[in-house]
Amino acid sequence: MRERSRAWRARGERIGLVPTMGNLHGGHLELVDRLAGEVDRLVVSIFVNPLQFGPDEDYDSYPRTLEADLAALEERGVAAAFAPTAREMYPGAEPPRTGIDVPALTGTLCGASRPGHFAGVAVVVVKLLNIIEPDVAIFGRKDYQQLQVVRRVVHDLDLPVAIRDGPVVREADGLALSSRNSYLAPEQRRRAPALYAALCELAAALRDGRRDLAALEAQGRERLLAAGFDAVDYVAVRRCEDLAEPRGDEACLVCLGAAYLGSARLIDNVEVALHV
Ligand code: AMP
Repeated sequence: MRERSRAWRARGERIGLVPTMGNLHGGHLELVDRLAGEVDRLVVSIFVNPLQFGPDEDYDSYPRTLEADLAALEERGVAAAFAPTAREMYPGAEPPRTGIDVPALTGTLCGASRPGHFAGVAVVVVKLLNIIEPDVAIFGRKDYQQLQVVRRVVHDLDLPVAIRDGPVVREADGLALSSRNSYLAPEQRRRAPALYAALCELAAALRDGRRDLAALEAQGRERLLAAGFDAVDYVAVRRCEDLAEPRGDEACLVCLGAAYLGSARLIDNVEVALHV
């Protein structure tokens, strides 16, 4: 992979990377389309990264649809799909001993309930960047905290890559596209848009000037439980910039939520731009 991308670079071509875990849907393809106009060669990586799954999570059952993914990428004229095996990425019996920690960002929200998740993401992203050496890489705002972690790692470690982001792509009823949506039974699928609806309601309250965040967050949780979610991991209002708790002077807040329908863990977020 690196030989190929170095050959492109030697010809003066600009290289873009879209990292994915495959099972490609409209959210991924939006990132592909956004970056395609900006680069000469687009690489899409497809790798279900064992390092970012907890022991009780869905690594084994995560949907893998390589052939359909490759067909969709070929249709879009992607220069290369990089789809290594876990053994190729992590040779030897042991997982890598080098970790990347971003303590200020990963102890909270999804990081609090998925210990080690973002450390696993950071390691695989840095490996992919080092293997492919893209000029630019793009991530979806759907995984808001992940995007922040990636930006932080790239900034703090001086990685020579520009990071772009893309909007959350949704179904017509508001549910954010996700490979994990395929876990939902029809009845759960009907309830799933309540996550986005609850976050929109929270965002509207913030736009109206409300700042009683604890009460608004509690209301969001209750709304999800009332809509039939089985458990709520968190509903939270944070600063867009660094996911810290708001102080009252920020220009951008983000409402984030994570909740379970059965064993499917759904996440979503809505940004609120404020006139300060
Ligand atoms: P994944 O395959 O779930 O690891 O996602 C790969 C990339 O696609 C990440 O940067 C995600 O944030 C992004 N992505 C996944 N779902 C969506 C969506 N519904 N809208 C926008 N980006 C998405």
